[in-house]
Amino acid sequence: MKTFQELGLNSHIQKSLKELGYIEATPIQEEAIPFVLENDQDLIGLAQTGTGKTAAFGLPILNKLKKNKEVQAIILCPTRELCLQISKEINSFAKYSPGVAIATVYGGASAEIQIRDIRAGANIVVGTPGRVYDLIRKRVLKMHTIRFVVLDEADEMLDLGFKDDLDAILEDTPETKQTMLFSATMSATIYNIAKKFMHEPKEISVGKKNIGADKVSHQYYFVRPGHKYETLRRIVDSEPDIYGILFCRTKHETQEIADKLKEDRYSTETLHGDIPQHSRTLIMERFRQRRIQLLVATDVAARGIDVNDLTHVINYNLPEANELYVHRSGRTGRAQKSGTSISLLSSREAYKIRELEQKTGKTFELKQVPTGKEICEKQLISLVDKMKNIKVDEKEIASFLPAIEESLKGLSRQELLARFVSAEFNHFIELYKDSRDLQVIAPDDRFGGERGGRGEGRVRRERQPEENFINVMINVGRDDRLEVKDIFSLVNSQRELKGADIGKIKLSGKYTTFGIDKAKEKVVVRCLKGARFRGQLIDAKLA
Ligand code: ADP
Ligand code: MG
Repeated sequence: MKTFQELGLNSHIQKSLKELGYIEATPIQEEAIPFVLENDQDLIGLAQTGTGKTAAFGLPILNKLKKNKEVQAIILCPTRELCLQISKEINSFAKYSPGVAIATVYGGASAEIQIRDIRAGANIVVGTPGRVYDLIRKRVLKMHTIRFVVLDEADEMLDLGFKDDLDAILEDTPETKQTMLFSATMSATIYNIAKKFMHEPKEISVGKKNIGADKVSHQYYFVRPGHKYETLRRIVDSEPDIYGILFCRTKHETQEIADKLKEDRYSTETLHGDIPQHSRTLIMERFRQRRIQLLVATDVAARGIDVNDLTHVINYNLPEANELYVHRSGRTGRAQKSGTSISLLSSREAYKIRELEQKTGKTFELKQVPTGKEICEKQLISLVDKMKNIKVDEKEIASFLPAIEESLKGLSRQELLARFVSAEFNHFIELYKDSRDLQVIAPDDRFGGERGGRGEGRVRRERQPEENFINVMINVGRDDRLEVKDIFSLVNSQRELKGADIGKIKLSGKYTTFGIDKAKEKVVVRCLKGARFRGQLIDAKLA
């Protein structure tokens, strides 16, 4: 990787980068920065979330600004939070660049201050398409001076219904401007914008090399629908220091889960489109300061939000589109830190994990829902660690000590310890006393407990009796690196078999037999015959 000195940025910018701790450029920066510095050609930049795209366009634009009081660059992005984040970041890049001014404009806030900022001589306007277009119509924003237009998270802007505004803005800006489009993923809609509004754009796409997303480990849990919330609690409880985002599909679900979590005394807040802007800002502020541990959010609300050091991203549901999974998991593991992306799914969705593995090139690890005992152990260790490392203000508590000593005299060291721990810890003991096992009969458990056996008396999904299944044999097995979970993907990937109950699975070296719902007897062989596993043609017959 190159250092920022080598990329051709001026010394003012270099100084601010040094202060920000930016030493090496990320891959997208390494390619995009010199390109924009040296060319006026349009640019499409594709790189995963958390790879530093803001600096990839922000720095060269800053470097190319002329000294005047005109608006030279418009940066468009989908949400107010993103606007604020981008302008904050570019402002810090511009710390030592004399005379550079940035205005941030978005809906839901008074236009007055925004107009004043622009009139005061802003060179860069960062805004949402709606408000930017408003200001163009009001003739506050003059288009003829525009030299750069950036579309950040373009696909999201389209999803949010900003298409007409974008069209109108791009229509108005001068032909000669340089248009840059940045996104984590390439989609048909992006191609359409590019075709319509960009002139022979150069495409820079950096694959999986990036500063964040490679450090993400992906885990999933099989969950029965009725156990979802309880499973979530267990996962959260088994990570005492969790700091993350919980993704839900709808505003409604987001609110519901956040309410439940609050009721159960978790440090949580929700972020979705119906939350008023003012509260959103406060929530983000508190989340950044880590006063909220778990932010429950919709995809749109969380999009692009740059909070570093998240330990976890939890997918309460797998998103509809695999692209969204990439965006979500990119929220963690950023800026050189490692992180975990956890998904809760039903065993019928096992095939989706296969798809995601293909898409991300990562292996997803199937996890067992922690038992009450395991959670208590983790919490206890964390509590004891905290006690051990706590800062004691000798001076402040000195005056209380005699009274405390008096009151506790007669208790042994052992008894004292037990009591202090209990005072903090009874909540968990109470909660998980007699707790049931939430293991879903996960694929790996199916062969006679070879893996994943976990004590007696566990509650499992009611298994169907053997006679409800017929046995099928296929010509791939362990030697072909077939695993039990692959049977689920294979079955679920066939339209007519999707969701069918699967019985005992027996893996051998060269072949595999498994039970499948008797109702599929007529179709199963036809469906599987000719399907492929890792490219190999499958032959199937009833065993
Ligand atoms: P993206 O837009 O690709 O999702 P961001 O531009 O939001 O990513 O950057 C993610 C985080 O990485 C930000 O906190 C940013 O300050 C930091 N960052 C970006 N580039 C570098 C770099 N070269 N060195 C260190 N940190 C960086
Ligand atoms: Mg970004």
